[in-house]
Amino acid sequence: MARKYRYEEFTWPEIREAVAGRRVAVLPVGTIEQHGPHLPLLTDVITATEMSRRAVEQIAEEAVLLPSVQYAFNEHHLDFPGTIAVQGPTFINYITDIGQSLAHHGFKKILLVNGHGRNVPFLDIAARNITNHSDAICAMVSWWSLVPKLLLNELRESEYPGGMAHGCELETSVLLYLCGQLVQMDKAEKDMPVKKSEYFYWDLQAPSPVFFQEFFSRYSRTGTTGDPTKATAEKGRRFTEAVIENLIKVIRELRAREIAPRRDHH
Ligand SMILES: [Zn+2]
Repeated sequence: MARKYRYEEFTWPEIREAVAGRRVAVLPVGTIEQHGPHLPLLTDVITATEMSRRAVEQIAEEAVLLPSVQYAFNEHHLDFPGTIAVQGPTFINYITDIGQSLAHHGFKKILLVNGHGRNVPFLDIAARNITNHSDAICAMVSWWSLVPKLLLNELRESEYPGGMAHGCELETSVLLYLCGQLVQMDKAEKDMPVKKSEYFYWDLQAPSPVFFQEFFSRYSRTGTTGDPTKATAEKGRRFTEAVIENLIKVIRELRAREIAPRRDHH
């Protein structure tokens, strides 16, 4: 029988065994928010969850997959129907509590796998909270940062910056591959800010020098930013497979990482 890896299917003695086996706890975090007229609200949950699931399934001796966190911080999307926005402090505390519980049970390595761009600062703080206030260490990675630069250079057709931002070439390709039945390509539309900016933009390939986020409806007509018309399932397959390969390496490196003792220099 294949090794069990879904946390919620374990019994408590099996969790105790997973802890003894030094398995890494992997927590996918998405968001429920509008992704343009062609992608479902669940997009960021699907990407984070399915990439994590496929990675953990391949190395089930070394990791367990937590049930995903679906709601997150995204009030800048509220002008579009469907978005469910959680306040920043609530979100940070919620993630911190999940991590603290895992640490309480003895998990020493926790990895947050992020599917939503604007989750980054909140998950970073939550990961530090968990690391600073437990015996565990907790790290965070956004899936798009694991797409190799060479592969992006090879496959990307949309312009940089801006073509890969939200409901874009990258996200739509990955969704077409992972969950094609939920994508309505006939409604996909290019939607890029009319005025190019040197310092204020958003692109999944690399962030702009300035951090800034205003209400999405101020600059996006459709709820998309980027060019989803350039998306294909084949690109999605190659992006996804590369991310999973790298995610496995991240999990293994975190698992192998030594937690050195602290020294009080007072
Ligand atoms: Zn998204």
